[in-house]
Amino acid sequence: MTDFLACLTQQHDLRLVAVAAVICALGSYSTFALGRQWFRPGKRILWVMGAVLTTSSAIWATHFIAMLAFDPGMAFGFDLLATAASFLLAVLLVSLGALVVVAAPSRLGGIAGGLIIGIAIAAMHYTGMAAYRVQGTVSWEPVRVTVSILSGIAFTMLAMALAFSRSRLQRDLAPPALSLAVCSTHFIGMSAIRLTYDPAVAIPEGALDATVVAVLTANAALLIVGAALAALRLQMLNRRRLAAEHQRLRDLSDIAVEGLLICDRDTVAGVNRSLERVLGQSRETVLGRPIDQLLPGLSVSLIPSSHEIDATLRDGVAAEIPVRVIAQSITIDAKVHTVIAVRDQRERLRAEAAMHHLAHHDALTGLANRLSFTTALAECHAARRKEAGAFALLLLDLDRFKAVNDTLGHGMGDELLRRVAGRLRRAIGEDDLVARLGGDEFAILRPGATDLGAIQPFAERVIDLLGRPFIIDGHILDIGASIGVALAPQDGASPEQLMRNADLALYGAKEDGRGRYRMFESEMNARMQARRSLELDLRRAIARQEFDLYYQPQVDARSGRYDGAEALLRWHHPERGLVSPGEFVPLAEETGLIIALGEWVLRTACAEALHWPGHLTVAVNLSPVQFRDARLASMIRSILDETGLPAARLEVEITEGTLLQDEQRALAILQEIRSLGVRVSMDDFGTGYSSLSYLRRFPFDKIKIDQSFVRQTPQDKESAAIVRAIAMLGASLGIKTTAEGVETDQQSRFVAAEGCDQLQGYLFSRPVPPDRIAAVLRDPAPLAATA
Ligand code: C2E
Ligand code: CA
Ligand code: CA
Repeated sequence: MTDFLACLTQQHDLRLVAVAAVICALGSYSTFALGRQWFRPGKRILWVMGAVLTTSSAIWATHFIAMLAFDPGMAFGFDLLATAASFLLAVLLVSLGALVVVAAPSRLGGIAGGLIIGIAIAAMHYTGMAAYRVQGTVSWEPVRVTVSILSGIAFTMLAMALAFSRSRLQRDLAPPALSLAVCSTHFIGMSAIRLTYDPAVAIPEGALDATVVAVLTANAALLIVGAALAALRLQMLNRRRLAAEHQRLRDLSDIAVEGLLICDRDTVAGVNRSLERVLGQSRETVLGRPIDQLLPGLSVSLIPSSHEIDATLRDGVAAEIPVRVIAQSITIDAKVHTVIAVRDQRERLRAEAAMHHLAHHDALTGLANRLSFTTALAECHAARRKEAGAFALLLLDLDRFKAVNDTLGHGMGDELLRRVAGRLRRAIGEDDLVARLGGDEFAILRPGATDLGAIQPFAERVIDLLGRPFIIDGHILDIGASIGVALAPQDGASPEQLMRNADLALYGAKEDGRGRYRMFESEMNARMQARRSLELDLRRAIARQEFDLYYQPQVDARSGRYDGAEALLRWHHPERGLVSPGEFVPLAEETGLIIALGEWVLRTACAEALHWPGHLTVAVNLSPVQFRDARLASMIRSILDETGLPAARLEVEITEGTLLQDEQRALAILQEIRSLGVRVSMDDFGTGYSSLSYLRRFPFDKIKIDQSFVRQTPQDKESAAIVRAIAMLGASLGIKTTAEGVETDQQSRFVAAEGCDQLQGYLFSRPVPPDRIAAVLRDPAPLAATA
């Protein structure tokens, strides 16, 4: 080592050594910069040839500049042929090395090429030394020679290995390593040389002297500087292009809606803004992290190309986000990267959940809808078969919902339904299911309810809960509900039959007067059958002329004389005999048959009244359903025209139900009827809960006090008080009052004494068949007759 340092410092001109080192460094740098062009598209061969030439020139020039720096202490010169041969040898061997690298552009190929180039350096050096002639003899120390050759080869291989490194820093160390290879070969080789002055030895004729070699090496150095400048410019261009490429890539990826992860093997090398947003983390915190930190359990090789797979993304707060990923290879800066597109699935899953909810729930109340209820019922039914479990099906219908909806508007109706749903939710148990089937119809599925004892308290509780008034926007809404109950398994072999039977029970509950529940009974089926056949018969009855109008006379309380009669419909059923209107009128209303029937009643009554004494009126009952037809008033007018009955002799009777459905419309039609000169009576007064308020809204001509009060007078104090109050009210408003259902003398005297204007009931006459009514009405003093 001391020899080596002594050789370098004492026998060399250090300034020239420095020049040699700079040339060597420039050459090495250019070598790699140019050589790397092989991996870019373009004139690759030319660039590699440039690199070969630069490398060879650098090795050669370094050698000869260093030789010029060397002072042998005797005359010296350079053999022309050997000098030229050393350069050609360098070019040849370096080309060979480059060929190997180009053929196998990998770290291993690089190392193999490095071996050959290392040999090239040694070959050049020692051929160059063969060209060196001094005035004396040259001898070599073999160990140092070996070390110089091996160190040169080792450093070259290292340089090539570094050039193929993944790390930028290591790659940047490749040119210095190559310089080190050239310099170590040369200077260790120089320390191996032993020169002995011998005046007998002469420098051969034609040997190049130092000046010529200086000019030659200066040329080679210029070539290297030129190459270095070119390389520098190339590198700058490359860098700029690369930066632009990266920027373009980033811009592109940033406008992508999906999250993008750019991976260098399993390391995150880039992310776009979408992914930053999804992650809630910035680019900087994610870069360089292994991919499975973000996508647990995933590595790049695990994602099949162009196949979407589901994965979870771990975000900044360690929450897991469901995602779908797809991978694609792209080449960035001559290197293969994997781009993983990451699609956030949260919104889609949310939307799906919402759709699922929508499909299975009622939008208004949030309860289960009919679809999910029938599914649950079917499941319950199937499970019952297996485990022999029992359950109850309750169908529920609000009693006076329609009135609220019609009079207070749909907004109020909707709010009421939501409140009802709220109460139902609170009423049911954990295992129960409550659903809204549509309109004001609800259903409850109650597993485990095996018998009456189990279901009755529950049904009562629901009835009670819905029977309490609702207070909405200052309105007190009293609606109530009816419930029909069917029990599985006894009340139905299939879910459909259970539903039908619960429906029958509900119908029964309503018939019973609403606000109550009914259990299904097998007779309900029979009754329903009977009802159906009655409906069929009813349809045929008009054509077959099975109807008749009876007339019940009405008596003037003051004079005791008849002053009118009420027309009452009768149906002579071919098999059943006389069917009461209480039984078939509701059916006719439900089926719409009441329209035609009502017209027939009006026409028949008006025609009949013409046979009566001229001061008598005829009263005709109108159904609420008839008010749905806007032509009701004009129909009445044409019947009056047709029959010739004076309008003043006709009375129409309506009930509270008429005003309950669509009050504005009903009032308008009533107004029209009244403007014809026809009188309008309020029937069954006192039974509805808002009778009083209707008196303010329409100028009725007559109030008919319901028979339920009259029947209980005068014993029942309350009924007596009501009759008295209504009679007084009528008197003060100037409206006539009629007491219906007068059956006894006592009742007759009481209601007359209280001021009722008119009396009607069995006491005076039962409804009379049409063929006898005219005769009955001619009787001058019916009251006296009964008294
Ligand atoms: P409504 O209008 O209240 O008719 C009075 C009902 O009371 C009649 O029953 C009559 O026979 C009965 N009645 C009369 N006096 C007495 C009495 O002293 N004691 C008792 N217990 N009952 C008495 P009806 O004829 O069975 O009619 C029942 C209901 O059918 C009527 O009640 C009315 O709402 C309806 N209706 C009858 N005919 C028609 C019609 O042509 N059109 C429409 N839309 N409804 C009708
Ligand atoms: Ca009536
Ligand atoms: Ca009545």
